[in-house]
Amino acid sequence: MEPGKSTVMQEQKLHELLLYLSQNSPFYKELFSRNKINIADIKTLSDLALIPPVNKDDLQKRNDDFLCVPLEKVAEYTSTSGTLGSPVTIALTEHDLDRLALNEYNSFLCADGSANDTYQLMLTLDRQFMAGIAYYSGIRKLGAGIIRLGPGVPSLQWETILRLKPTAIITVPSFILKLIQFANAAGININDTSVKKAICIGENIRHTDFSLNTLGKKITEAWHIKLYSTYASTEMQTAFTECSEGQGGHYQPELMIVELLDENDQHVKPKEPGEVTITTLDVEGMPLLRYKTGDICMYDDSPCACGRTSLRLSPVMGRKKQMIKFKGTTLYPPALFELLSERDEILDFVIEVYTNEIGLDEVLLYLLLAEDSEEYDRRIRAYLQARLRVSPHIKYVSAEEMQKKQFTEASRKPTKFIDSRS
Ligand SMILES: [Zn+2]
Repeated sequence: MEPGKSTVMQEQKLHELLLYLSQNSPFYKELFSRNKINIADIKTLSDLALIPPVNKDDLQKRNDDFLCVPLEKVAEYTSTSGTLGSPVTIALTEHDLDRLALNEYNSFLCADGSANDTYQLMLTLDRQFMAGIAYYSGIRKLGAGIIRLGPGVPSLQWETILRLKPTAIITVPSFILKLIQFANAAGININDTSVKKAICIGENIRHTDFSLNTLGKKITEAWHIKLYSTYASTEMQTAFTECSEGQGGHYQPELMIVELLDENDQHVKPKEPGEVTITTLDVEGMPLLRYKTGDICMYDDSPCACGRTSLRLSPVMGRKKQMIKFKGTTLYPPALFELLSERDEILDFVIEVYTNEIGLDEVLLYLLLAEDSEEYDRRIRAYLQARLRVSPHIKYVSAEEMQKKQFTEASRKPTKFIDSRS
């Protein structure tokens, strides 16, 4: 965390937040009283440790009690998926929508945006999706152009790119691969188009050491555009966005206090995995105090070559609930996905985690190989042993069996991770 000026500013804002919550939040009033917290005792950022963190289950079960304003002050209801089935509502006031715009304006500036840019938005602005409206209002504030096209339909995306000549696109990175495939088949020379950069949302394009992962490499090898990753969630109403250095998402200390906590709610050191825990600043509708997001990241607090000194967050390593403790190592599904995606021998996979007879996690990989051979089996086992230091169980399956594994429920997306732990 940035010492000095930023700490003083954050402590002042924290003081205002505590006062505001103690007066307006039914949930936090109760939390303070139940835990005998006197908000006057919380003066510095390190005093935050006196307040027990809350999580998504709290936010879901007590959703309405987080609202600090009368209903007539709510300007927009956004939502995010909950852990217990029904969605979680985040209500924003007019003031919060302005704050959201400022947050995204800062993010676009960080990602080398200017009024000279035109952004093609390949995502939805409907379905109570906060990010869509955040990008839209941030770009408006930036003075850049907007093409609000929505997700999917590569043919329409390309027709529009060629006609309106946007300089940047905003999308999930796996969709960029689809755009590349479509362009190649349609004879469009992608490196000769107006698009020079992409804001990548929802999926990682880098490893935790900030080098490009398989997806990031596949995109940039084919299409010579600059990728900027951004990480945010509806609850935090604030984004971490990369600058041109591509060394993690920059923190905005004036809008949020971030802590990375271990399993005992202690702060982790730089470059150690911890749960992203946030305290929103300047939020009026549903401010959050020490809210555990469930996302596991690492942070780097060394100054960035871009000149910014606020800490940077790594790509999300995984969800806390999906953490696998396997033979003394800690793993998250995305790292395994990445490992398996790197090998040409493996056409497709499903990872299953289950509890063995002595209560420990076991990992079983269902693999569809490009060729059913002993040589491939030997290579895969040697590779996994070298990269993981432990050997998961492997079961080779046919294309038909893989299909059955991946589409067990009524989901439209293939399942890559099955958690059968008891
Ligand atoms: Zn930077």
